[in-house]
Amino acid sequence: MMSEAMSTDHVRNGGLDSIFDQNSPAPRINWGAATAAERGPIIATLRNPRHRNAIGTHAGGYSVYRALAIAARTLASDHMADLTDTAPAERIGPHPQWLDDKRIVSLDPWGHLAGEFRDHLARGYDIRPTIAVTRAHIDVPEVRAAIGVGRIRVDGRVVTPARTVRVMKAAIDPVWYLPGIAERFGVSESDLRRGLYEQTGGMYSDLVEREDLKVFLPPIGGTTIYCFGDPDKLGDVKTPLACRVHDECNGSDVFGSDICTCRPYLVHGIEIAIEMAQAGGTGLVVYNRKEGRALGEVTKFLVYNARKRQAGGDRPEAYFKRTACVAGVEDMRFQELMPDVLHWLGVTRIDRFASMSDVKYDALVRQGIAIGERVPIPAELVPADARVEIEAKIAAGYFTGAVTSPSLQATGRALHE
Ligand SMILES: [Zn+2]
Repeated sequence: MMSEAMSTDHVRNGGLDSIFDQNSPAPRINWGAATAAERGPIIATLRNPRHRNAIGTHAGGYSVYRALAIAARTLASDHMADLTDTAPAERIGPHPQWLDDKRIVSLDPWGHLAGEFRDHLARGYDIRPTIAVTRAHIDVPEVRAAIGVGRIRVDGRVVTPARTVRVMKAAIDPVWYLPGIAERFGVSESDLRRGLYEQTGGMYSDLVEREDLKVFLPPIGGTTIYCFGDPDKLGDVKTPLACRVHDECNGSDVFGSDICTCRPYLVHGIEIAIEMAQAGGTGLVVYNRKEGRALGEVTKFLVYNARKRQAGGDRPEAYFKRTACVAGVEDMRFQELMPDVLHWLGVTRIDRFASMSDVKYDALVRQGIAIGERVPIPAELVPADARVEIEAKIAAGYFTGAVTSPSLQATGRALHE
């Protein structure tokens, strides 16, 4: 198997001596270095174990499917990605924030620029992008409705005559610089490593056995960003930015489940992003895979049942308690790492922030990102069954600003209603 891999190296990498490639060392990672070449590529593929300089593997949780595909013999274990024509559709960076080892600790700022490591690529190192940047048109029923009533206009630039919306989008896999993650959470690196090792059932023994490896690709979901308007203007302080930072809620975001306000918030964020882009600014929606406050959908649905079945019915004062009963905590999203994606885009100021969450606000401000106006969701966009959630959040000080009418009773539907 090894000789086959070496001959593939030889063919694909310009005829350099494959013995040299095989025995050359893992590149050193200098997190926060000034150039890609000085920082060094992050290599977490298993094609040549000697080249590895990171713990874990690529593609987050999907790495398990890759393992399954290799076990089932539908994928060759030594497959080398052919990256022809996959380069970013828009240039992003480098920004000054990339060169600060404390600013960005949970993604690889050079992750979309595999070409910057051309010397290593030519020598047969298997470098996989952890970020991909493309363009798309999105078609959202609520945006169509907003166009219909004249809140959003067809301008032929941001909104097409077909009433779709032009966006740049980027998918970002998590890449954790462990010393920086530990510092962000105020824990020691060894406690962080031990926790990650033990609580994943010993999945990554390198966490405790290879303290020289400082970078970890965790098996969790990443982030998708949607940019409205000219992406070149992101990070330019003269161009105003509207932004929604959204945590995944599949039930509401995709299926329109009415127990929470997630899709209304998401669509409201898209609308103010479009509005800002049409006014000459830029709009940004950051979508984080943190389903059910990062507790997962099984926990979330258990909590829904507990809320609906409890004595007295589903009501705001018991909202957070039911989550804490099942999960031990009310929330595991840890917004501490969330600002990294904005640092990656060079953003230092959000002029209109489509969120009333103090947790998100505080995390951004702590990371040096200024916030202008905080834009609440209009009351008419809150579904009736979601009033329990929103009243609970207001009562808990989660939000600033009232968004509901006090005359309405905040009691959720019964389970079988
Ligand atoms: Zn939700």
